[in-house]
Amino acid sequence: MPSSVPSQPSAISRLSTAILQWIDSDHTPDGPDRMRQEPDRVDWVRCIPFIILHVGCLGVIWVGASAFAVWMAVALYVVRMFAVTGIYHRYFSHKTYSTSRVGQFLLALWGGTTVQRGGLWWAYHHRHHHRHSDEAEDAHSPHVHGFWWSHIGWITSRRNFPTDYSTIKDLAKFPELVWLNRFDTVVPLVFALAIFGLGAGLETWAPSLGTDRWQMLVWGFFISTTFLFHGTSCINSMAHLMGKRRFDTSDDSRNSFILAIICLGEGWHNNHHRYQSSTRNGFYWWEIDLTYYGLKALSWTGLIWGLKPVPASIMEEAARADHAHSIAAAQRAVHAHPDFSTLKKVVPAAAAMAVATATASNLQVPKKAEGPAIHKDVSTQAEHGGQHSAPPRIV
Ligand SMILES: [Zn+2]
Ligand SMILES: [Zn+2]
Repeated sequence: MPSSVPSQPSAISRLSTAILQWIDSDHTPDGPDRMRQEPDRVDWVRCIPFIILHVGCLGVIWVGASAFAVWMAVALYVVRMFAVTGIYHRYFSHKTYSTSRVGQFLLALWGGTTVQRGGLWWAYHHRHHHRHSDEAEDAHSPHVHGFWWSHIGWITSRRNFPTDYSTIKDLAKFPELVWLNRFDTVVPLVFALAIFGLGAGLETWAPSLGTDRWQMLVWGFFISTTFLFHGTSCINSMAHLMGKRRFDTSDDSRNSFILAIICLGEGWHNNHHRYQSSTRNGFYWWEIDLTYYGLKALSWTGLIWGLKPVPASIMEEAARADHAHSIAAAQRAVHAHPDFSTLKKVVPAAAAMAVATATASNLQVPKKAEGPAIHKDVSTQAEHGGQHSAPPRIV
């Protein structure tokens, strides 16, 4: 029967592909394009390593906890969240700064420790997200596919496993990056072994820390990496649901302080959707963006350079949007509480002040070359104050 719909692979073919992809993520016997055309479906066999990552956290029942192991888990979360945001996102996906080829490789190794697959797979999916944000094609839109699919389901789907190298040619031209992307379990395995080895060393050299090899593996690798995965996934699921919208972008991206803390600055997601090429996602000093501060510090070492700023035109747009929002909020407050006469007077006044401040900040006030001193010498006034001033009257 002739049909334009490609026939589905057999169960045996799917099983062998899933197992071989544990080792070689580019193994697609029918081609990546055909795989991407399949309907969304959880590939449980392919996901076994991902399931082991979560189940490994239960090891805490046997290994217990120590202050050192817990702090190690926290530290490795922060260091590797920086790798997700500062390397996979702001470098591989958006090229918001520059580095050398060696520097790029070192960054890719650092990114590999996050256990979020290769930087090229990550960048391919993220660029796709920006092109189709909150549309049917967006692999992880909570508005299209629901919260849980956008949070975790989409990465378990067979069609999302291959990397589309044709959409990331600027990265795919480096064979060392393609190799790390293809064999994306190598760096995580070495990283896990290194943590295990560190634990073994601490058992011998620093027994007073009260930790051991298995405890370090569970806390430093399994627990820390699982939290890291869900922290990152909050951007896919919640950053399009929770928070405020400064810019009227075509998607539903939002700015959230809470997500910015969890994800080291990525919570300023609406800012980022408005302007993706800037190294910083927090546009103002109060929009805490730890990734940007880290990248700035990294630039002082010479490993990276050319951090891209937010253009003045975008900042002006942000200022206009903020003032429009503050006026709208004041007007909503008046309508919400029409009986409160104080609010009637104060709230519109606050809005007017906001507008006046905004206008004043843009004014170019000419400076006088010379003129009368604004501050007079008050000592002379003080000397004659008793003679010329009338005593205060008590009324
Ligand atoms: Zn987004
Ligand atoms: Zn992005």
